[in-house]
Amino acid sequence: MFNYKTAQQIITGLFRPSGTESIALDDADGRVLAEDIYTDRDYPPFNRATMDGYAINTNDWEKGTRGFKVQQVIYAGQTGQAELQAGTCYKIMTGAPVPSSANAVIRREDAVQVDDTVSFNIDTIKPFQNIARQGEDIKAGEGILKSQSICSPAVISLLATLGKSHITVKSLPKVALFTTGDEVVGISEEIKPNQIRNSNQYLLKSLLKKWLIKPQVCSHIIDDKEQLKTVLSEVLNFDIIITCGGVSAGDADYLPEVLEALGVKKLFHKLSIRPGKPLWCGQLPSGGLVFALPGNPISCMVTFKLFIEAYISMCFGLGVPKLLQLPFKGSRKRVSSFDEFFPVSISGEPSMLHPIHTNTSGDIRLGLGADALAFHPVEADVLNDGDMVNCLLF
Ligand code: AMP
Ligand code: MG
Repeated sequence: MFNYKTAQQIITGLFRPSGTESIALDDADGRVLAEDIYTDRDYPPFNRATMDGYAINTNDWEKGTRGFKVQQVIYAGQTGQAELQAGTCYKIMTGAPVPSSANAVIRREDAVQVDDTVSFNIDTIKPFQNIARQGEDIKAGEGILKSQSICSPAVISLLATLGKSHITVKSLPKVALFTTGDEVVGISEEIKPNQIRNSNQYLLKSLLKKWLIKPQVCSHIIDDKEQLKTVLSEVLNFDIIITCGGVSAGDADYLPEVLEALGVKKLFHKLSIRPGKPLWCGQLPSGGLVFALPGNPISCMVTFKLFIEAYISMCFGLGVPKLLQLPFKGSRKRVSSFDEFFPVSISGEPSMLHPIHTNTSGDIRLGLGADALAFHPVEADVLNDGDMVNCLLF
């Protein structure tokens, strides 16, 4: 039986780089850039007034001039002003270009204007005060975003500044999602006491949504070999197939057998992890991967986080998701002879990991309120107060 690290290495080693596509900036939230981005011009593109006030030439001030005649008013977006004459100034608005004959802006709050002459209630003036100078943020043609950047709100704003109405991003993988089980019914159907609702379909769709992935095929299959075979045979060209249930040791757990009969090459079955031990993974003849997850909701969530997310992240060129290390609050005894994973909330100052009690791995609450999935390695019998513990953020 492989452990978590080995299994993750096997899976991430089989990643296939995502293709690319061009999309409108409006649709880019959360997508992964697939091009390096360079500035189209200097930023700021001109010497920009950062305050409402008066633009003067500091030579005049140094020569002793204290009363300045307002030569012109400059609004944001205006250009083409006449050069400043000795002893004159511009009245200028925030965001307006400061003409080259001026080199300092004095705030309106520090000025007293009487008719067309202004004086200032300040003793010193520094050249280029209250002016953002052309190119001081970044020069034209410099690299500003790398391929693999995630389109966060700040990145989207930057792309808009650069006039990128369309960008090249990584394509999303083609995913098929199947839940299985005779006892599992749709969430709107009438339910008998011996049945349970198909929560995992919604859990897995929601986990995929974080990556902006919507399964192209999504359905439920009963525990029937022929039906499993028929349905699965139609998606063998997909990038990722996710199934849930039917991979344990029960008499109706047909998935490993069916998948192998369809030509899917087994990578492993059963791992030394808890929860999630029954996980089955295989590679499709076309190169994609099949993740056959156990049916218990918590096992399903944990194996998705540990393995499917790592694989998707690798395909996007983002590397394996990084673990965060934080101090543990409380005490936790390892209950199996495996690496264990459990939900935690992050709170307190300094931030610590607080375990959230779950009953069995079938607990419908799935560690409600958890911020992360914490890792209890098999090497540690007990996690003690203050121990540094690895976790994966939800
Ligand atoms: P299995 O992995 O098929 O043996 O299922 C393990 C447990 O998870 C059983 O109690 C199932 O009823 C439950 N289960 C399986 N599939 C789902 C599902 N789609 N939604 C909620 N629970 C499920
Ligand atoms: Mg089942």
